[in-house]
Amino acid sequence: MSYLLRGVAARGGIRVVAADTTKLVAEACARHQASLTAGAALGRTLTGALLLAQILLKNSRDRVTLRLRGDGPLGGVIADAGLDGAVRGYVVNAGLALAPRVDGKLAVGQAIGRRGDIEVIRSLAPYGEPYSSSTSLVSGEVAEDIAMFLAQSEQINSAVLLGVYFDGGMVRASGGLVLQALPGADDAALALLEANVRSFGQLTDHLLQASLSGVMQELCWGLDLQMLTDRALPLEFSCRCSDEKALDALAYFAPEERERMIAEDGGVEVVCHWCGERRWLSPEQIGGITGNEIRCPDCRTLWYRQGQTTMIRENEICACGRPVTLPS
Ligand SMILES: [Zn+2]
Ligand SMILES: [Zn+2]
Repeated sequence: MSYLLRGVAARGGIRVVAADTTKLVAEACARHQASLTAGAALGRTLTGALLLAQILLKNSRDRVTLRLRGDGPLGGVIADAGLDGAVRGYVVNAGLALAPRVDGKLAVGQAIGRRGDIEVIRSLAPYGEPYSSSTSLVSGEVAEDIAMFLAQSEQINSAVLLGVYFDGGMVRASGGLVLQALPGADDAALALLEANVRSFGQLTDHLLQASLSGVMQELCWGLDLQMLTDRALPLEFSCRCSDEKALDALAYFAPEERERMIAEDGGVEVVCHWCGERRWLSPEQIGGITGNEIRCPDCRTLWYRQGQTTMIRENEICACGRPVTLPS
């Protein structure tokens, strides 16, 4: 099982959030048929989003979306997580094959690219507008980029460690930690933490040999770590896609186009880009969409659908330039 632990060290001066994501990252890699490099980028980003959720969110229904967009061949990686431990995500170019670096590590920074940005979007329940902030990428290695985001955008000084280790093409270890300096943390404690982090080495080497709480203890050596979690929070790869949402997306196609899909293929296969799930929508399901839509008479853009929030409002301008007029 994948899980998350929280703790404080240095008498409340340092907050520690740690996740073992081995199982969920293995599932994500399988769902997206990701190459090792793409899988490492995806795994680090999924883990990073789960850690950020614990730091940035308050309400159990809030979500955080973490997106890294660089100039590398991966084409971007995105993950979306909540305080409940559910996460989903994908990379644009899951099949990307890159040679490992000279030191043998996977070339995640090269895949993502070093020029670009890291964006964090908070969707606050129940009706807050999504709130987005972003900073420039540092290295495309994900952990450093998140640390810089936290420092610049949130004024949170922290160390971020993320790692995914493959053996024989399988995910053998994956996880991450954020060690965050809280207001009032004393300088000697922070100096010791910095020294611990610097001499720590590869996170996945430690995860292969010790439990997650053992790894937390090691990083907080000399800092009196107190665990806050009485029970570990279970983490899972979980998507919110459904037949209904897939049908909603199909509603944007004109009725003639949907008829053509049914005539040519006998239905429609919809693949969820978040989780890779394939759904077959039958002619009966697709036929149920029609009958309550209002479309632009000129360009067939969907203006309104019964039971949905209004897509285009009265007096707005359609994509083709025609003013929208909805019958009352
Ligand atoms: Zn999905
Ligand atoms: Zn139009």
